[in-house]
Amino acid sequence: MVGKLTTIYGPMFAGKTTEIQNMCMSAIEEGKNIILAKYKHDIRYTKDATIINHDGNKLDKNDNLYIVEISDSSELLDILNSDLYISNHTMADIIIIDEAQFYTDIAQTIDIFKTDARYKNIDIILAGLDLDANCQFFNRDFNYLIASSDIAIYKLSKCYICNATAMYTVRLDNMHNQNSRIKIAGASLYQPTCTMHHPSMI
Ligand SMILES: [Zn+2]
Repeated sequence: MVGKLTTIYGPMFAGKTTEIQNMCMSAIEEGKNIILAKYKHDIRYTKDATIINHDGNKLDKNDNLYIVEISDSSELLDILNSDLYISNHTMADIIIIDEAQFYTDIAQTIDIFKTDARYKNIDIILAGLDLDANCQFFNRDFNYLIASSDIAIYKLSKCYICNATAMYTVRLDNMHNQNSRIKIAGASLYQPTCTMHHPSMI
Protein backbone atom coordinates (compact mmCIF):
# COMPACT_ATOMS: atom_id res chain seq x y z
CA MET A 1 0.00 0.00 0.00
CA VAL A 2 1.46 3.31 -1.07
CA GLY A 3 0.51 6.45 0.78
CA LYS A 4 -1.72 8.90 -1.00
CA LEU A 5 -1.59 12.66 -1.37
CA THR A 6 -4.75 14.54 -0.44
CA THR A 7 -5.22 18.27 -0.88
CA ILE A 8 -7.90 20.40 0.75
CA TYR A 9 -8.25 23.81 -0.83
CA GLY A 10 -10.59 26.74 -1.27
CA PRO A 11 -11.24 30.26 0.07
CA MET A 12 -11.14 31.37 3.67
CA PHE A 13 -14.01 30.27 5.92
CA ALA A 14 -14.69 27.22 3.77
CA GLY A 15 -14.16 24.63 6.52
CA LYS A 16 -10.67 23.45 5.58
CA THR A 17 -9.52 23.28 9.19
CA THR A 18 -12.71 21.50 10.22
CA GLU A 19 -12.02 18.95 7.47
CA ILE A 20 -8.54 18.41 8.92
CA GLN A 21 -9.96 18.01 12.42
CA ASN A 22 -12.49 15.44 11.21
CA MET A 23 -9.79 13.52 9.31
CA CYS A 24 -7.59 13.54 12.43
CA MET A 25 -10.38 12.26 14.66
CA SER A 26 -11.24 9.44 12.23
CA ALA A 27 -7.58 8.47 11.89
CA ILE A 28 -7.04 8.52 15.66
CA GLU A 29 -10.06 6.25 16.08
CA GLU A 30 -8.34 3.84 13.71
CA GLY A 31 -5.24 3.96 15.91
CA LYS A 32 -3.14 5.88 13.43
CA ASN A 33 -0.36 8.30 14.34
CA ILE A 34 -0.39 11.76 12.89
CA ILE A 35 2.10 14.59 12.62
CA LEU A 36 0.41 17.90 11.99
CA ALA A 37 2.66 20.73 10.83
CA LYS A 38 1.23 24.07 11.79
CA TYR A 39 2.51 27.29 10.25
CA LYS A 40 4.55 29.03 12.93
CA HIS A 41 3.39 32.54 12.12
CA ASP A 42 -0.27 31.62 12.13
CA ILE A 43 -1.32 32.83 15.56
CA ARG A 44 -4.79 33.99 14.60
CA TYR A 45 -6.42 31.81 17.20
CA THR A 46 -3.76 30.37 19.44
CA LYS A 47 -0.05 29.88 19.88
CA ASP A 48 -0.55 26.54 21.61
CA ALA A 49 -0.13 23.04 20.26
CA THR A 50 -3.69 22.79 19.14
CA ILE A 51 -5.61 23.33 15.95
CA ILE A 52 -8.65 25.57 16.08
CA ASN A 53 -11.21 26.21 13.39
CA HIS A 54 -13.06 29.46 12.77
CA ASP A 55 -15.86 28.36 15.09
CA GLY A 56 -13.40 27.93 17.95
CA ASN A 57 -13.50 24.13 17.99
CA LYS A 58 -10.19 22.78 19.19
CA LEU A 59 -8.26 19.61 18.58
CA ASP A 60 -5.37 19.29 21.02
CA LYS A 61 -2.23 17.25 20.66
CA ASN A 62 -2.43 13.79 22.20
CA ASP A 63 -0.63 10.45 22.12
CA ASN A 64 -1.59 9.91 18.49
CA LEU A 65 -1.39 13.49 17.32
CA TYR A 66 1.88 15.36 17.38
CA ILE A 67 1.55 19.03 16.50
CA VAL A 68 4.71 20.79 15.40
CA GLU A 69 5.20 24.40 14.37
CA ILE A 70 7.31 25.10 11.32
CA SER A 71 8.08 28.18 9.28
CA ASP A 72 9.47 26.94 5.95
CA SER A 73 9.91 23.92 3.71
CA SER A 74 13.37 23.11 5.07
CA GLU A 75 11.83 22.59 8.49
CA LEU A 76 9.42 20.13 6.89
CA LEU A 77 12.42 18.13 5.72
CA ASP A 78 13.89 18.36 9.20
CA ILE A 79 10.81 16.49 10.43
CA LEU A 80 11.84 13.56 8.26
CA ASN A 81 15.22 13.38 9.86
CA SER A 82 14.36 14.03 13.47
CA ASP A 83 12.77 12.24 16.36
CA LEU A 84 9.69 14.35 15.78
CA TYR A 85 8.89 11.94 13.05
CA ILE A 86 8.42 9.18 15.58
CA SER A 87 5.31 9.21 17.69
CA ASN A 88 5.37 6.77 20.60
CA HIS A 89 8.28 5.02 18.88
CA THR A 90 6.02 4.37 15.93
CA MET A 91 6.35 5.76 12.47
CA ALA A 92 3.72 8.33 11.64
CA ASP A 93 0.94 7.11 9.37
CA ILE A 94 -0.19 10.53 8.24
CA ILE A 95 1.52 13.88 7.84
CA ILE A 96 -0.72 16.92 7.62
CA ILE A 97 0.54 20.31 6.52
CA ASP A 98 -1.84 23.17 7.20
CA GLU A 99 -1.60 26.55 5.43
CA ALA A 100 0.37 24.87 2.65
CA GLN A 101 0.22 28.02 0.52
CA PHE A 102 2.82 29.70 2.74
CA TYR A 103 5.64 27.30 1.90
CA THR A 104 7.85 28.03 -1.07
CA ASP A 105 9.27 24.94 -2.76
CA ILE A 106 6.58 22.79 -1.16
CA ALA A 107 6.13 20.77 -4.36
CA GLN A 108 9.77 19.73 -4.26
CA THR A 109 9.50 18.92 -0.56
CA ILE A 110 6.43 16.76 -1.09
CA ASP A 111 8.15 14.98 -3.97
CA ILE A 112 10.91 14.02 -1.55
CA PHE A 113 8.31 12.76 0.92
CA LYS A 114 6.62 10.72 -1.80
CA THR A 115 9.71 9.21 -3.38
CA ASP A 116 11.75 8.42 -0.28
CA ALA A 117 11.30 4.69 0.28
CA ARG A 118 11.19 5.14 4.05
CA TYR A 119 8.08 7.27 3.80
CA LYS A 120 6.26 5.71 0.88
CA ASN A 121 3.44 4.29 2.95
CA ILE A 122 2.59 7.54 4.64
CA ASP A 123 -0.44 9.55 3.67
CA ILE A 124 0.16 13.24 3.14
CA ILE A 125 -2.60 15.79 3.54
CA LEU A 126 -2.11 19.42 2.52
CA ALA A 127 -4.60 22.17 3.25
CA GLY A 128 -4.51 25.76 2.13
CA LEU A 129 -5.71 28.64 0.02
CA ASP A 130 -5.60 28.09 -3.74
CA LEU A 131 -6.07 31.80 -4.50
CA ASP A 132 -5.03 35.06 -2.87
CA ALA A 133 -7.29 38.05 -2.22
CA ASN A 134 -6.78 39.21 -5.82
CA CYS A 135 -7.94 35.85 -7.19
CA GLN A 136 -4.43 34.96 -8.32
CA PHE A 137 -2.65 31.71 -7.48
CA PHE A 138 -1.38 32.11 -3.93
CA ASN A 139 1.50 29.69 -4.50
CA ARG A 140 1.88 27.86 -7.80
CA ASP A 141 3.62 25.01 -6.02
CA PHE A 142 0.46 24.32 -4.05
CA ASN A 143 -1.72 24.54 -7.16
CA TYR A 144 0.58 22.02 -8.84
CA LEU A 145 0.12 19.69 -5.86
CA ILE A 146 -3.67 20.13 -6.00
CA ALA A 147 -3.58 19.09 -9.66
CA SER A 148 -1.35 16.10 -8.99
CA SER A 149 -2.97 14.85 -5.78
CA ASP A 150 -4.74 11.51 -5.52
CA ILE A 151 -7.69 13.16 -3.77
CA ALA A 152 -8.48 16.87 -4.13
CA ILE A 153 -11.19 18.25 -1.86
CA TYR A 154 -12.49 21.63 -2.97
CA LYS A 155 -14.11 23.38 -0.03
CA LEU A 156 -16.43 26.23 -0.85
CA SER A 157 -17.80 28.93 1.40
CA LYS A 158 -20.77 31.28 1.27
CA CYS A 159 -20.50 34.84 -0.04
CA TYR A 160 -20.60 37.28 2.85
CA ILE A 161 -22.88 39.59 0.85
CA CYS A 162 -25.35 37.40 -1.01
CA ASN A 163 -24.84 33.95 0.53
CA ALA A 164 -24.18 32.36 -2.86
CA THR A 165 -21.41 29.80 -3.26
CA ALA A 166 -18.08 31.54 -2.62
CA MET A 167 -14.80 30.40 -4.13
CA TYR A 168 -12.84 33.64 -3.59
CA THR A 169 -11.52 35.61 -0.65
CA VAL A 170 -11.66 39.40 -0.47
CA ARG A 171 -9.59 41.69 1.71
CA LEU A 172 -12.04 44.27 2.95
CA ASP A 173 -9.65 47.21 3.40
CA ASN A 174 -8.35 46.75 -0.12
CA MET A 175 -11.52 46.83 -2.18
CA HIS A 176 -11.44 48.83 -5.37
CA ASN A 177 -15.15 49.49 -5.29
CA GLN A 178 -16.07 50.46 -1.78
CA ASN A 179 -19.78 50.22 -1.33
CA SER A 180 -21.40 51.81 1.69
CA ARG A 181 -24.27 49.34 1.47
CA ILE A 182 -21.88 46.50 2.16
CA LYS A 183 -22.16 45.57 5.76
CA ILE A 184 -18.92 44.17 7.09
CA ALA A 185 -19.81 41.09 9.06
CA GLY A 186 -17.62 40.46 12.07
CA ALA A 187 -14.19 41.86 12.70
CA SER A 188 -12.36 39.82 10.11
CA LEU A 189 -10.31 41.58 7.50
CA TYR A 190 -11.09 38.83 5.03
CA GLN A 191 -14.36 37.44 3.80
CA PRO A 192 -15.41 34.84 1.22
CA THR A 193 -17.17 36.08 -1.91
CA CYS A 194 -18.91 34.78 -4.99
CA THR A 195 -17.84 35.81 -8.50
CA MET A 196 -20.34 38.69 -8.57
CA HIS A 197 -19.06 40.32 -5.39
CA HIS A 198 -15.31 40.14 -5.75
CA PRO A 199 -13.81 43.44 -6.98
CA SER A 200 -11.27 41.61 -9.16
CA MET A 201 -14.12 39.89 -10.98
CA ILE A 202 -16.32 42.93 -11.62
ZN1 LIG B 1 -22.11 37.33 -3.62
